[in-house]
Amino acid sequence: MWVEHLRGVRGPLVWVGQFCASVSLFFLFRVCSPTSLQTETLNKPAFCRAVLGSCFVLRRARGSRLICGAISSKMISPSIKWPLATRPLLLSTLLILLTVATPSSCQSREPTFPKASNGAPFPWNKMRLPEHIIPAHYDLMIHANLTTLTFGGTTQIEITASKPTSTIILHSHHLQVSKATLRKGGGERQAEEPLRVLENPPQEQIALLASEPLVVGLPYTIVIDYAGNLSESFHGFYKSTYRTKEGEVRVLASTQFEPTAARMAFPCFDEPAFKASFLIKIRREPRHLAISNMPLVKSVTVAEGLIEDHFDVTVKMSTYLVAFIVSDFKSVSKMTKSGVKVSVYAVPDKINQVDYALDAAVTLLEFYEDYFNIPYPLPKQDLAAIPDFQSGAMENWGLTTYRESSLLFDAEKSSASSKLGITMTVSHELAHQWFGNLVTMEWWNDLWLKEGFAKFMEFVSVSVTHPELKVEEYFFGKCFKAMEVDALNSSHPVSTPVENPAQIQEMFDDVSYDKGACILNMLRDYLGADAFKSGIVKYLQKYSYKNTKNEDLWNSMASICPTGDTQHTDGFCSRGEHSSSTAHWRREGLDVKTMMNTWTLQKGFPLITITVRGRNVHMKQEYYVKGVADAPETGLLWHVPLTFITSKSDAVQRFLLKTRTDVLILPEEVEWIKFNVGMNGYYIVHYEDDGWDSLTGLLKGTHTAISSNDRASLINNAFQLVSIGKLSIEKALDLTLYLKQETEIMPVFQGLNELIPMYKLMEKREMNEVETQFKAFLIRLLQGLIDRQTWTDEGSVSERMLRSQLLLLACVRKYQPCVQKAEDYFRQWQEAGGNLSLPNDVTLAVFAVGAQTLEGWDFLYSKYQSSLSSTEKNQIEFALCISQNKEKLQWLLDQSFKGDVIKTQEFPDILRAIGRNPVGYPLAWQFLRENWNKLVQKFELGSNSIAYMVTGTTNQFSTRARLEEVKEFFSSLKENGSQLRCVQQTIETIEENIRWMDKNFDKIKAWLQNEQLNLL
Ligand SMILES: [Zn+2]
Repeated sequence: MWVEHLRGVRGPLVWVGQFCASVSLFFLFRVCSPTSLQTETLNKPAFCRAVLGSCFVLRRARGSRLICGAISSKMISPSIKWPLATRPLLLSTLLILLTVATPSSCQSREPTFPKASNGAPFPWNKMRLPEHIIPAHYDLMIHANLTTLTFGGTTQIEITASKPTSTIILHSHHLQVSKATLRKGGGERQAEEPLRVLENPPQEQIALLASEPLVVGLPYTIVIDYAGNLSESFHGFYKSTYRTKEGEVRVLASTQFEPTAARMAFPCFDEPAFKASFLIKIRREPRHLAISNMPLVKSVTVAEGLIEDHFDVTVKMSTYLVAFIVSDFKSVSKMTKSGVKVSVYAVPDKINQVDYALDAAVTLLEFYEDYFNIPYPLPKQDLAAIPDFQSGAMENWGLTTYRESSLLFDAEKSSASSKLGITMTVSHELAHQWFGNLVTMEWWNDLWLKEGFAKFMEFVSVSVTHPELKVEEYFFGKCFKAMEVDALNSSHPVSTPVENPAQIQEMFDDVSYDKGACILNMLRDYLGADAFKSGIVKYLQKYSYKNTKNEDLWNSMASICPTGDTQHTDGFCSRGEHSSSTAHWRREGLDVKTMMNTWTLQKGFPLITITVRGRNVHMKQEYYVKGVADAPETGLLWHVPLTFITSKSDAVQRFLLKTRTDVLILPEEVEWIKFNVGMNGYYIVHYEDDGWDSLTGLLKGTHTAISSNDRASLINNAFQLVSIGKLSIEKALDLTLYLKQETEIMPVFQGLNELIPMYKLMEKREMNEVETQFKAFLIRLLQGLIDRQTWTDEGSVSERMLRSQLLLLACVRKYQPCVQKAEDYFRQWQEAGGNLSLPNDVTLAVFAVGAQTLEGWDFLYSKYQSSLSSTEKNQIEFALCISQNKEKLQWLLDQSFKGDVIKTQEFPDILRAIGRNPVGYPLAWQFLRENWNKLVQKFELGSNSIAYMVTGTTNQFSTRARLEEVKEFFSSLKENGSQLRCVQQTIETIEENIRWMDKNFDKIKAWLQNEQLNLL
């Protein structure tokens, strides 16, 4: 799944949103980071943890979880006891656990079973399904009625039992099961035995009870008849609508199952490790068409006006990858070299916007078949643009689905960043056809195995297939984004235990995606591209159609040697004589698993402190965490593949730091040394003594002596160090003065990412005078670069994105030459009825200026209503949200929440943009609080969207009063939100903002009086 829809496609838009208001500025693809429950305790060998708010589950290995705490009365009846036979085991386990569990969260109490909805005991008390019933094949028939907005279906599942049991537990959520039967031995002719059905809604499970135990190893088929309503949210089998050019509203139905919503469309064993094949049949009216994972085999008329489409049987796959759509979409197709039919589907009025994505999909699919050396196993790949879509895209096997803005490209109106976003999203979903679909994580704790990889493969594939996009120039800015949340105490290891749907949802965050991608990039840089590639190919081949854990990946990598190395029987590699660098391999051997475990099994990242004494370079690593002056003694250690260059040599030197401190000796003394070359490592660096002065001198002298990524990383690291008091704010600000000469996108964006949040914090404290001075300083710093921007669409993608952002910044900050030009453009555009074709790169600035008058705002909104271009709509939407008129802002919140004239899928973006607006943020915060329950219903507790809204409305607060408000509100939510990680994140961030302002504000005020600023 692509969760970064909010920024992925409209990177600049959202990024720009920051100008108007953010602390956690995100760069391009920045996702506000959602996040989840406190996971600290989960790392202990045994622990108690709240599940569903009030139920404490004790977890050891899978299958031996016990309930030992206060259980929600809804779920558990205290009168039901564990079977006698299990009691001695339970008691002894409890005794052991009580010695390690915290007394407050865990009390000794006999485990009990929940009550089914009819009051009978429900025979299963865990979130995870039992492992002894194994599904092999599903035969699904689903009839969607787009008039009544209901659906009915029959699910037949072929199963076997691995131990005798008369109880079959599977998932079902919001479905009305009318009948269930069991057929012995498979096949239609077998006698059917009725099954008793019990439902346990809180755990989204049903139990089917047979009259006698199933025989081990014998095939059985369960047949379930059921019905349901099309979901009004964005998951399960849900309703979507769109308006035609003529104004007619049409309905369609589509699916979004990841992670736990297949159970909302058909009863199933809804866990990724229960892979099976699927035969899908969809009933529909003749005016519609149905598409699914596999190609259509035949269509039969089953009644007058009712057609049943039969799709080919799928390969073995997880339930969350099943998909079907009933709609009146149109499509355009092309074949790949290897004969895979690729089609893009969209609503009829937008079918002329599919060509870019179609070509990109063909190119990328061919690339992956070649790179992975495994043919794409299905005969077709459909890409469908869905008018209502919560995230950015979803990788359903053979039928990937997208938000319209993530797939449709209007050659006239789409922006450079939109082209980039579409390419990256398609690349991501197609990478999943291997990473995720073919080889799947065993459980959601290792979500990163597919999401980190898909994110990383975006970079690997697009840099080859679309070199003109130059992704290498900015892709790894996302490591800074990941570090932003990973530097908080509320972060979690990449691989983290999760259990219930809300916790699973919370895994779709920056840590799984971006940190995952960054540590893979670090590994690739360390092993070399070829060795890395052969490792992942080996992994994919070995585990095709299977499920994996973290360690399976590292084991596949561990037996790979970098080019030119030889492998020893112990699995380690050593370098051949011809290799000059990387002496650590020769000395230490190459233990990928041990090294990578330090990055995936512990949260956070290291701060490396460098002290140069003559030719000796002293290195020290410690855990970097915000909010404390000195890093706590956590004992956390990483195997850090350090790289560096010096004033004497630009050849990359390497050193694997495995201990807390170490020393290396340079061949000669140097003037400066720069670690983390090209930003390939997931760590930050502090240079002791005059180390920073030398680097600042270098930047101010010949900044091009180091790469733009290196310059960006220096800017980032300097401000990270300010947060923990290792570097003064004055030194960090002095370093940014070199930006006067900067022209590259990464360092400029990173500079803005650091500087803009400062005035955003001031806005929240109403410090007008200094705030105004600071804003003026920022514009003076970049004035040369702003003045050099042409008002055209010329140049590379990165040049164009830079232009778009700079002009927007200049106009929003009321830099007069920019404002005047934008006003002229807006007037001409309005006079031409909005039909004048503006250069895409300047449109955002023009709309932002135009929206500042009420008349301009109304005109923009009228164009929003009729526009068919996602880019244009997003640009207008953003401009509407930066209005200074509170009534307009409130209207936007109300309407997008309601969903009639502005789609509800836009609400999270609108709420966040208004939450960043100096006039609007109190409205956004109020709206979030008043509508919390409905928001959670629509967007799901724990989802990335909810986290995006929570942090978007609150994490720029910088006063104690606001902090108290935030704490009070979220703690009042109890199990309906107080436990979310994003809440913890935002509280930590606000506390950090307050500390930061208290410590640095006066210094910034004094620094702004500095004489050298006048020379800018
Ligand atoms: Zn994904």
